[in-house]
Amino acid sequence: GKRASKADGKGNVIVSVRVRPDLSGHDNAPNPDWVIDGRKSLIAYRGKEGGDYYYDNVFATHDDNYRVYDHIAKRLVRRVMEGYHGTVFAYGMTGTGKTFSMQGTASSPGVIPLAITDIFSYIRETPSREFLLRVSYLEIYNEKIHDLLSMPTGNNPGAQQEEIKLREDSKRGVYATPLKEEIVQSPTQLLRVIARGDQARRTASTQFNARSSRSHAVVQIVVESRERIPTSGDNKRQGLLPGGVRVSTLSLIDLAGSEKAAESKERRQEGSHINKSLLTLGTVIAKLSEQKEGKGGDKDAKHLPYRDSKLTRLLQGALSGNSLVSILCTISIGPGAGPAASATNINETLNTLKFASRAK
Ligand code: ADP
Ligand code: MG
Repeated sequence: GKRASKADGKGNVIVSVRVRPDLSGHDNAPNPDWVIDGRKSLIAYRGKEGGDYYYDNVFATHDDNYRVYDHIAKRLVRRVMEGYHGTVFAYGMTGTGKTFSMQGTASSPGVIPLAITDIFSYIRETPSREFLLRVSYLEIYNEKIHDLLSMPTGNNPGAQQEEIKLREDSKRGVYATPLKEEIVQSPTQLLRVIARGDQARRTASTQFNARSSRSHAVVQIVVESRERIPTSGDNKRQGLLPGGVRVSTLSLIDLAGSEKAAESKERRQEGSHINKSLLTLGTVIAKLSEQKEGKGGDKDAKHLPYRDSKLTRLLQGALSGNSLVSILCTISIGPGAGPAASATNINETLNTLKFASRAK
């Protein structure tokens, strides 16, 4: 079969696949065309064009959000607190569980709330350092950036927002401007800011139905820390930084649906932008994982086409250098005979698995 990845998961790019349970409630019979083996991190399709795919993790329908978080993000979040950049992506067709995995529900919190819990535990357990957290939340739709934290809501949802541009300077790297960044001091406060962004996103997508499935939602938590100045001792040292300031970013990204855009002309144009971002992301991540494994080595592998899409440009700093990337690919294969087993769906599912393979 096609061995898509090393199964040890110790690299800087972790690729996982999660299979959504059947939602009809009564028929959760396994689909005989598929083999899912979490222990071997294997997923195999026995139909035409099938094959065996190995990833760092394969989550079956009974694996819950806690287990998924522990395997795909826990270590990464800790590394971010220690000063490395970290990015978690959810990739897959609309309806396969990207948002369920990233946000979760009240009874089954996803990557975002679980990461927030761990961030504040780390801060509590690290009294020797002082932390400052800033959060931003933006959406990339049709290759345009929208600030979800300063979006007009309420009775004037259609009001025009100032266009957000990407800039670069040597200090900050690539950044979006003007973009609201909220300073947050507690998990509740951080969750509330994100909930506000979610609400703005929902409001915006009532204007155009498919918007939320065609846009990328990007939560970024900037973690700044420095060693605490001892309170006792020489007063003159007050105000001096004993060590450098560490700045790192945790990016949590609910990507646009990976399905092909519908055929209308208007939609094709939108779809082509989305595909461009997803395609560029796939290329960048594939090249990154080559570099890190020393497979490439040549100058070709060093050319990363960050500039080809807004998403990759924005994430340039977070993806290069000492960074960790975790990609969760979500799929839905349904019971044997359901509509989920349609040829289109299987093709799209195989496309998701291939995207995941390219990333390793
Ligand atoms: P996406 O964001 O990829 O479009 P959603 O996360 O909205 O998909 O999932 C579609 C539906 O399936 C939602 O009702 C969601 O609650 C449900 N769902 C997805 N994954 C799971 C899961 N692992 N367990 C239970 N329900 C799930
Ligand atoms: Mg979603």
